Amino acid sequence: MAQFGTVFCDSFSVARYADGAWQPAKITPLAPLPMHPAAHVFHYASSCFEGFKAYRWNDGKARIFRLHDHVARMQRSAASLRLPVPDADSLAGMVIDVVAQHIGDIPAPPSSLYLRPTLIGTLENIGAAASPSTEATLFVLASPVGDYFDAGARPLRLLVDDQRARSTEQLGSTKTGGNYAAALGPTLEAKAKYGVDQVLFCPNGDVQETGAANFLLISDDEIITKALDTSFLHGMTRDSILRLGNDLGYTITERHFTVDELLQLVATHEAALSGTAACLAPVGGLVYRGEEFKVRDGESGPNTAKLRQALQDIQYGSAPDTHNWLTEVTASR
Ligand SMILES: *Cc1c(COP(=O)(O)O)cnc(C)c1O
Repeated sequence: MAQFGTVFCDSFSVARYADGAWQPAKITPLAPLPMHPAAHVFHYASSCFEGFKAYRWNDGKARIFRLHDHVARMQRSAASLRLPVPDADSLAGMVIDVVAQHIGDIPAPPSSLYLRPTLIGTLENIGAAASPSTEATLFVLASPVGDYFDAGARPLRLLVDDQRARSTEQLGSTKTGGNYAAALGPTLEAKAKYGVDQVLFCPNGDVQETGAANFLLISDDEIITKALDTSFLHGMTRDSILRLGNDLGYTITERHFTVDELLQLVATHEAALSGTAACLAPVGGLVYRGEEFKVRDGESGPNTAKLRQALQDIQYGSAPDTHNWLTEVTASR
């Protein structure tokens, strides 16, 4: 299958906000959006997005994973950027319409349809650096994607950076483009210098997350991850793994922990990154101040595999949806 995120369904849904109101969304053939060069987003980064998946089951219907939670997170992102906040039912409806149109394009599990709602500020005013965009465009793009682990489930190596933050205290939990721009330089530097896959951002020793995934420590009976605050993105995969972990009898510990503690814990705990694209990906090694630290024996561990399996079983329809996470969608063409 083509590289993640490079193939798109041939139609998408678009809605515009102007004169204080959202206009009805329309499904249209996928095409460039006409945009004025003065659009707020180009200059002042007024943009946020979501990323989640729909799966096609054997019954020919699709199931969207945690649709309403992702819609709610997008509303929080929009509000934090002072963008017009989409109505929850309208945005969920746009996603459902796009999925219903494209069920035939969804490859069977473990492949899926990746959904990318995006909201951008389109106010034509380059003088609006310190004022919000009162016009906006919201669209929902769909992209058939393969299994992340097709590429080989090699455990990841991370650079532990105890100086720099991925984002800021006010935007860390907002899914906004600027945060990825901020993480890009440090991540490319780390890849070039240490050959690592990602940077684990731990400003002042506070273990937060990587550029686009949450970080978890997992033993035979406990899952440890940073408690929610505004400094990092509140991943739905993180939340789902914690709930399933609780169901499976793990003690769930959401707390602050430091780099010093982390380096000790990885002697006994598995480490993993969580996110929609990769689900739960094993971490086999850390680099800190030029020194290599193995996570246990450096191989992917059984608890990471077990938790990933529990989540995928629900997504693929081989286990009951005990938490009501799935939205069923029937084909509309
Ligand atoms: C999207 C994202 C995640 C993962 O969120 P999920 O809801 O699990 O996909 C984690 N960290 C960052 C910075 C993200 O952008």
